[in-house]
Amino acid sequence: MARKFDEKKLVIASHNAGKVREIGDLLAPFGVNVVSAGELGLDDPEETGVTFVENAVIKAEAAAKATGLPALADDSGLAVHALNGEPGIYSARWGGPERDFMMAMKKVDDALENKQDRSAHFVAVLALCWPDGHLETFEGTVHGTLVWPPRGDQGFGYDPMFLAEGQKITFGEMDPAKKHSMSHRADAFQKLVAACFSG
Ligand code: IMP
Repeated sequence: MARKFDEKKLVIASHNAGKVREIGDLLAPFGVNVVSAGELGLDDPEETGVTFVENAVIKAEAAAKATGLPALADDSGLAVHALNGEPGIYSARWGGPERDFMMAMKKVDDALENKQDRSAHFVAVLALCWPDGHLETFEGTVHGTLVWPPRGDQGFGYDPMFLAEGQKITFGEMDPAKKHSMSHRADAFQKLVAACFSG
């Protein structure tokens, strides 16, 4: 049984204002006030883990330790099956210092030259850490295939080349609300809410 969350305040271990707002909206119905690592002036710890879970846990633990408050962190990326799961935890880093995802998508497509299997999945891991060190982690996925050339200018990262199973348009062409209803992040959040915030 997962530990239930019955605190009033939660630190979101992210400096991304969009992400913090989205999580705040999601948890508002449960009476939780969210505050971001950015607002509290916390530094981002180095992501030295070798899995999504390890990196999400590093971020959640660092924020909980620094603030004495419970903290929620996420880590996500694209795992390409014919590339043994790459770019995986290095998904952001494949975009280089400029975070150039046109270049990162081209790198993926080049690596898939001569490969039959173009399947991939997005992964999102959420780690919730209490000040006493207790941890709960949740993993969400969405499966699909990679198309070339990239299509659409919605979303971010690898969205324009990702065609989710059963869909005719890429995440890059999809209305963001529709993407958010079926994404890896939505899947992880549903699991978090079901385990720690409801009932
Ligand atoms: P982070 O978890 O915010 O560090 O994101 C990791 C990287 O994975 C992002 O920079 C994107 O390149 C990629 N990624 C994660 N989620 C998505 C998504 O929903 N669409 C496209 N790319 C994603």
